[in-house]
Amino acid sequence: MTVASELESTVRQIGKELARLSGGQSPTLFERRWWSQAAINLAMHNLDFKTQLFRFIDMLPSVSDDQRVVALAQEYFGSMAGQAFGLGWGLKALAATGVGARLSGHAIRAQVEQMARTFIAGSSVSDATPVLKHLWTEGKAWSVDLLGEATISDQEADRYRDRCVQALEGLAQAAQAWESAPLLEQDHLGPVPRVQLSLKISALSPQLDPIDPDGSFESVARRLRPIVDVAMRAPASLIFDMEQAETKDLLIAIFTRLFMEPAYRTFPHAGLAVQAYHRATAQDVETLLTWVRQRGVPVTLRLVKGAYWDSDTIRYRQRGWPVPLFEHKADTDTNYEALVRTLLEASAVIRPAFGTHNLRTLAYIEAVAHELNLSPSTWEYQMIFGMAEPFQEAVLRRGRRLRLYTPVGELLPGMAYLVRRLLENTSNESFLRKEFVESQSLTTLLAPPAASSCSDAIPVASAFCNEPFRDFSRPEARLAMQDAIAHVKQQLGRTRPSVAGALTLTGPPMPSYNPSRPEEIVGVVTAAAAADVEKAIRLAAHGWTAWRTLSAERRVAVLRAAAALMRSRRETLAAWEMLECGKPWREADADVAEAIDFLEFYGDEWLRVSTPKRLGQVPGELNHRLVEPRGITAVIAPWNFPLAIPAGMVSAALVTGNPVLFKPSERSPVTGQLLVEILLEAGVPQTVLLCLPGGPDIGRALAQHPEVVTIVFTGSKHVGLELLSRASLVAPGQRMVKRVIAEMGGKNAIIIDETADLDEAVAGVIASSTGYSGQKCSACSRAIVHGAVYDLFLSRLREAIGSLRVGNPEEPGTQVGPVIDARAQERILNYIKLGSQEARVVVEGRVAQPGWYVGPTVFADVAPTARIAQEEIFGPVLAVLKADSFEAALDLANATEYALTGGVYSRSPANLDLARQRFDVGNLYLNRPITGALVHRQPFGGHRFSGVGAKAGGEDYLMQFVISRVVSEQTLRRGFAPAE
Ligand code: NAD
Repeated sequence: MTVASELESTVRQIGKELARLSGGQSPTLFERRWWSQAAINLAMHNLDFKTQLFRFIDMLPSVSDDQRVVALAQEYFGSMAGQAFGLGWGLKALAATGVGARLSGHAIRAQVEQMARTFIAGSSVSDATPVLKHLWTEGKAWSVDLLGEATISDQEADRYRDRCVQALEGLAQAAQAWESAPLLEQDHLGPVPRVQLSLKISALSPQLDPIDPDGSFESVARRLRPIVDVAMRAPASLIFDMEQAETKDLLIAIFTRLFMEPAYRTFPHAGLAVQAYHRATAQDVETLLTWVRQRGVPVTLRLVKGAYWDSDTIRYRQRGWPVPLFEHKADTDTNYEALVRTLLEASAVIRPAFGTHNLRTLAYIEAVAHELNLSPSTWEYQMIFGMAEPFQEAVLRRGRRLRLYTPVGELLPGMAYLVRRLLENTSNESFLRKEFVESQSLTTLLAPPAASSCSDAIPVASAFCNEPFRDFSRPEARLAMQDAIAHVKQQLGRTRPSVAGALTLTGPPMPSYNPSRPEEIVGVVTAAAAADVEKAIRLAAHGWTAWRTLSAERRVAVLRAAAALMRSRRETLAAWEMLECGKPWREADADVAEAIDFLEFYGDEWLRVSTPKRLGQVPGELNHRLVEPRGITAVIAPWNFPLAIPAGMVSAALVTGNPVLFKPSERSPVTGQLLVEILLEAGVPQTVLLCLPGGPDIGRALAQHPEVVTIVFTGSKHVGLELLSRASLVAPGQRMVKRVIAEMGGKNAIIIDETADLDEAVAGVIASSTGYSGQKCSACSRAIVHGAVYDLFLSRLREAIGSLRVGNPEEPGTQVGPVIDARAQERILNYIKLGSQEARVVVEGRVAQPGWYVGPTVFADVAPTARIAQEEIFGPVLAVLKADSFEAALDLANATEYALTGGVYSRSPANLDLARQRFDVGNLYLNRPITGALVHRQPFGGHRFSGVGAKAGGEDYLMQFVISRVVSEQTLRRGFAPAE
């Protein structure tokens, strides 16, 4: 027999034995004849129902009104509601009376709470202590996990720290009096504490962000040290849970750094979870083993399969990043088994712990340990409280150390946890489901994981793909950005040669300043004078002749070459934006990515649009629609997306065959010139694209010139309207009616109803209102909140906003940078002054450092007619309004002159539907932040006074730059027509 087959035979033998030891039982979840059985059974057979059920459960605790619960049950389940909740009589009939609705609402809540209690040991540590004691007397150790909301403020992080400290103290005291349990209190390396706490590191800091490892460490370690101090005294073990894939390296780094500090280096009860579904875990474990040998004091490594597969995979795919997790469950299982051996072989320096509910895996661990001749005290099993009870029983009967991962906490924050467990239990891949629901044969259940035959590669879509943002959890991405900042800083203050072709610009030198350090000149460009416009027009008119006759493919190739150049200079361009416009890392990176998207998307689009289109199929007649460039185009751009917005406007005009006179904003002239340099380098002739830096006078001169036929503008409402009104006047010599494409401002609102997930809603409002200091046309400047959650929302918002890091955007941990210039700063501060008269100040952002900073500011109880609720402020200022109902909130949201973006946080299907119908904005976002529209996936633009024209980054956009002609030919000659 080979070694491998010998091992397999031991696995089978032990597996059968474990199955026998677990015999006659089934897990609580699948056993009890209460509601969950009906619901869980339905969920396992009907995926739509499962989604609805889990969403409903997740939402339920946030709604306190029982009548509302019944209404929501109907929204979620329709006619299946009665069936789902085991209520024999129709829910509708019950809901018809107030009393009935309250009764059935109460019953529904009680059923879900009962289900939650299967997995949650108590709402507080004292509540859970008897349960923990009971486990202990049954021979089971435990690891308490304190459930909580997502941490979005320093205060919440402090509270989690305090809860951990109190839990450790309380548990240590209670556990002292318990009977001794030698199996649980001693392992191969020494004593094992009775108390173990699993830590959610992301709950210890609102600033845990892999973009800034040092800042994250400081922020976490500050709160972690007091916890470790108590654990060392208690004693208790502390295990870091693993979380989302982006934070894996960061958590490992925090762990190894903290437990190498002299005060903690000797602590032998620290531990870390590692996830078998992550492709890098084998390497991580090797690194950790090297580290622990250096440290000289053991740690626990808890091997789990990983609990975030669905969300991590979806998120990485959405972002276009390679998914770092195994795609197939079998590959994870194979990796798990390989890691079992690694950990057991390293047991001289670590305490291996195995988290699994899989019979095959349990048997495999036993078999390898047997092969390695290890004493059973060497490792422990970890299972989840409320799950896989038969296997808990089996390993206990086999005399093994078992620890239950035991959540403790209020039901509301515990629901997310409950849903994760339910997902795990009901998934097709669930071992428990296979064994206890589908009763698969033992031979199948004990078979080694079959290596996957399909490739893990994500199928490459042939259509347009958005340029992925940088993944700053990768060290090489951070390094590249740091290098680029250093490189760009060496070039500051220089006068840049103009990019206006043969034209010598005669305006004054135009310096551009760094908003974080106003004394620092980023660069100097030569401005155009109004008199230069005429000469520019002559050059462009000349250049147009050849440009318009180029084939579509040739012009598209130029755009693609420009995209490639941008890609190769990605960090450098972002660094210029950081210094010239004060964009923090991710904002700057996203702007460059969007610029690349525009170039590639409009290129693809032009190939589609420029092909002559046959209209109708009537025989004997050939109708074709042809498109041709309109003519000289003026592009007048803003500064807030200094590369992407002009890249979109300029490239759309160019690819459709028009010559372009481009005026970048006077607040971002250097980035504007960089764009032109790239396009020229990619092959746009100098006569076809001329850069004319300057202020409103140049914009006006361009727009008024009789030979400019298309004006593409993005900026404020008043300038857009001025351009529109002037464009209607016909100047002598003008040969065509001017077209104005104007993207203008917004006064965007996010509605938060009483069913919203407040973790998400607060974070979404903050991201949307303070991202790039609120200087986005799409930014949220009004939050309209349902009265039932108004106070809670405000208090969480206040703390979270107060925890934001305002500072220099060159620092990776900066969340809010400066505003663009002194004029903007003054204007925003004036609005803040006005707001203090109009409403109640909740947060007033004060920033002590020099530079054009305005701290994020929040006003509450704002009247709908207040100026701060109506006018675009274009800074980090948020007005919070209260609404009595969702309909009233929609009315408030629609009651401004703008209609650009809007958002809703709600878990009521009916409210989301109503928002789709009635929320009058160009871009509506449901349950997500309202900024960051992506080319192609979310074409962008508003109506009413937010803009006229087709959406940027959408399929209609290019048609605005062409005239279309239709040619109809009669093909029937002398009774003979060509074959169709
Ligand atoms: P702005 O209107 O002050 O300036 C925009 C451009 O117009 C600049 O190049 C400026 O020099 C030029 N300009 C100013 N006065 C002019 C005039 N009288 N004639 C011709 N040109 C003139 O806007 P801004 O401060 O650069 O940008 C912020 C504004 O842009 C905000 O209102 C924001 O909402 C809006 N914006 C809208 C979108 C959108 O897609 N809807 C996108 C970004 C920004």
